[in-house]
Amino acid sequence: METVLVEDVLHRFMLERAGVRGVLVRLGPAWREVAGRAHYPAVLRSVLGQTLAASALLTGNIKLDGALSVELKSSGPLRLLFAECTDHGRLRGLARWNDPLPETLDLAAMPDAIMAITIGNAERGQRYQGLVDLQHPELASALENYFSQSEQLPARIVLAADGEHAVGMMLQKLPDEGGHDAVEDEDAWTRIQHLTATLGQQELLATPPEQLLYRLYHEESVRLFDPRPLAFGCSCTRERVEAVLRSLGRDEVEAALEAREGEIEVICEFCAQRYTFDRVDAEHLLSVTPAASAPHTAQ
Ligand SMILES: [Zn+2]
Repeated sequence: METVLVEDVLHRFMLERAGVRGVLVRLGPAWREVAGRAHYPAVLRSVLGQTLAASALLTGNIKLDGALSVELKSSGPLRLLFAECTDHGRLRGLARWNDPLPETLDLAAMPDAIMAITIGNAERGQRYQGLVDLQHPELASALENYFSQSEQLPARIVLAADGEHAVGMMLQKLPDEGGHDAVEDEDAWTRIQHLTATLGQQELLATPPEQLLYRLYHEESVRLFDPRPLAFGCSCTRERVEAVLRSLGRDEVEAALEAREGEIEVICEFCAQRYTFDRVDAEHLLSVTPAASAPHTAQ
């Protein structure tokens, strides 16, 4: 029998016997698009893949309008880590770093590190931002902590990525709804955590979602919902690049045109889309005064 490996999907599921809800994200081609944009050192590639899987994972149980991003900045060798998933399941991400990177990337040891989760619609200015407490060396533990605090539900998160796949799973203990035996519920959550702890990184990366859930939790009445498709996608547009150039101001734009023989080329770091602007384009974009023109351009 042919095995169909399901890739670039988000599955929601329930472990009905234990009163636990979950999300499982498996990325293949979408992750390879992101990973292939730069020559990422292996240690960083793994963390970027985990971050990308996490950005999708965190959209699983919320009603998203716009996008959800996970972003880390630090003054250490790993300068920036960014991953985003939109309400249409479009994923993009990147990292910026300085060589040499340490052999393991310990989030808790990064100087001046800040990690934020931003949810909402940038165009409509409706955004919520939460800061992740970076007391844990690994992304999964840091996010677990964030989730347990922000949703008041105990959460367990596992993440793994290699050059081929990025996978994440999140489990949340549902609130007691009365009628349940609290001790029984606590036991169930402990049992699920033990089962989850048996899962190795390789197994997580190599096993298709359905098979993985049944293998781990077959005695817990797994209910798997229809998968939601995910794909690589970038939200860059010529208009957004124009807005960035406009915010630089006339002097900078003219200097760039001078330096590049009359043509400015902007390449999107997420998707490698090229945008070019000649003198006529530049004159046009500088003459437009949008309502949201940045104050610092007024001279
Ligand atoms: Zn782009």
